[in-house]
This record gives sequence, structure tokens and C-alpha cells, in this order.
Amino acid sequence: MAWSDFLGNAPVRDLMRQSLSDGRLPSSLLFAGIAGVGKGTLAHFLSKAANCQKLQNDFCDECGSCRKIEQGVHPDVRTYAPDGAFIKIDQMRDLIREVFFKPFEGRRRVFVIDQAHRLRLEAANALLKTLEEPPETSLLILVTDSPNDLPGTLRSRCQRIQFYPFSPAELESILQQRSIYPTRDLPLVGRISRGSLGKALNLDLQQYREARREMLEAIRACTGALSYRQALQITEPLASARQKGQFEFKTGVLYDLLRDLLLIQQGAPPENLTNLDLHSELAEIGSALTFERIVDAVGSLDHLMKGLGRNLNKSLALDRFLFRLSGVSGTAPT
Ligand SMILES: [Zn+2]
Repeated sequence: MAWSDFLGNAPVRDLMRQSLSDGRLPSSLLFAGIAGVGKGTLAHFLSKAANCQKLQNDFCDECGSCRKIEQGVHPDVRTYAPDGAFIKIDQMRDLIREVFFKPFEGRRRVFVIDQAHRLRLEAANALLKTLEEPPETSLLILVTDSPNDLPGTLRSRCQRIQFYPFSPAELESILQQRSIYPTRDLPLVGRISRGSLGKALNLDLQQYREARREMLEAIRACTGALSYRQALQITEPLASARQKGQFEFKTGVLYDLLRDLLLIQQGAPPENLTNLDLHSELAEIGSALTFERIVDAVGSLDHLMKGLGRNLNKSLALDRFLFRLSGVSGTAPT
């Protein structure tokens, strides 16, 4: 790997590379942007370039230092990620202790806080002073796809570096080169991924299509008066989805479908739809739902997705969503 292998966000890459080589790289950075646009990769590149044994402010990917960073075992490069739903205060106490040590074997210690928006408030508060005056031999990189969920006090102490989504053309050209999907599926993959290369590369299109069918039938059931038995048939398999991420995946698909229904009702151009290939079916289903019901249902889905990090009762939240969409009021638990 080399700087030139970094895909997308070339201005950000060049800025970071240049700042490092000019010795002007701020010690506290906030990498913000949707998931799958290279934030973690660039943090990784910077860690290597700051510590490579052969090259100054660049990396060879061959020396002991580069190899250790690649394997995640370099003593001067550490990543902190959520332990469960959150990044805990003990993790940040560890960072605060470590940050003032001189590098053990490299030139600069690098601390990456992945999914920084999951810092517990007390953990974020503990970090404030360190972010304000980190030693020059340390670099802190906060990485997040949800910068607004970070306390303002934390954001204001970091230099924000904004990463942008890939354009549809960029995405399509990368996917074409890697021949992961048949050419005919590329437009759909591009629309589902919304500019996230990570999402596009990891997408299981068959799984997406199956989940989409299932969610579409759930929405269709809500166009009529939904019986309790029907609701149970929909929510039970979804709420009990055991495989990690399966529930989030399906609710994400559901979200895309609802967004499409809203766009159709607003008379948006069809090419704005994620599921453009289902345009006529969506239009037919949407004609049996009111705009208000869909908006209402999206609101309860938002509530559900925000609650996923906490111990939200998924079955109850899903029932609530379904009843909102089917226009039954008063029946759903709140
Ligand atoms: Zn190297």
C-alpha cells in the first residue's frame, strides 16, 4: 500500500500528507464522514508515515515498524473502539496515561479513537484536557460517522477533517475494476451504498434482495388493516434475528424502502430512488398509504434505530412501527 492506493477524498489525503511532512499536522484531529470512505485507512497511513523506519513522513510498508502497524502490534500505535455499546471511561484513562509517554520505538505515538460518538459522556469529559494540550510526540485521531453526536466541547478541541462520499461514477469505476458484481447490478449497488465504498465492497446483494422482499411484504401488509397475528408474523422473525447485525441490516433495508415511498409521494424523479428497479411496485404499494402514515412510521423507526445501542425492547418498538404504518392508532404500545 502507498498514499496513491488511497481511494477517494484525494484533497484530504494530500492535505494530511503535506501537513505531516511540513510538521504542521495538528495533534488532535477529528475524521468525520459516512462509514466506508477511508477515515480508518487514512489514520492507518498516517500512523505508518509518522513511524516508518526507512522513510521520513512517508511509509515503505516493508520495515519492521510498518509491518507491526499493519499487524496491529506496534507499541506506539493504539486504537480504542467501543467495548460493547460505548467507549468507557477506563479506556480513556488508559489513553490519558499513555499519551504522555515518549514513543517506545517510533517517532510519534498515534491514538485512534474509533466511533468516537460512542464515547460515554464521562469518558469524553475526561479526554478534554488531553485533546487541548497533547504532547508533540503524540497524535490523537477521533474517527466518527456521526460527528453531531459528539459533545461540542470535544469537537471544538480537534481540527475537523471532513471526508466526502464517493460519487456514483467513482464508485462504479472502482467496482468495475474489481469485478465483484455483474455490470448490470452496479447501478443498484451504487444506489444502496450511497457513496460508501466500504458498504459497496461488503454488500451481499442476494441477501439484500431477500431482505428487501421480506420488508416489502411487511409494508404491503400494513396497507390493509393489520391483524395482531399478521403483525406477529412480521415482527417475530425480525426481532429474534440472532446473527449480529442482521436486525440492523434489515431495518436499514426497510428504511430505504420507506424513503423511496416518501420520494414517490413527493413526486421526486425516479432516479432518486434507492430501489429504482422496484419503482412500479413501490408506487402501487405507496398509493394505499398516506404521506402522514409513512412519516409517522419513519419517526418510530428512527426512534427504534437510535435505541439499538440501549436495551430497547425490539418487539414492542417494531409493533409500534407497524401499527403506525397501518394507521391503527391507540393499539400500539408507546
Ligand atoms: Zn516503513
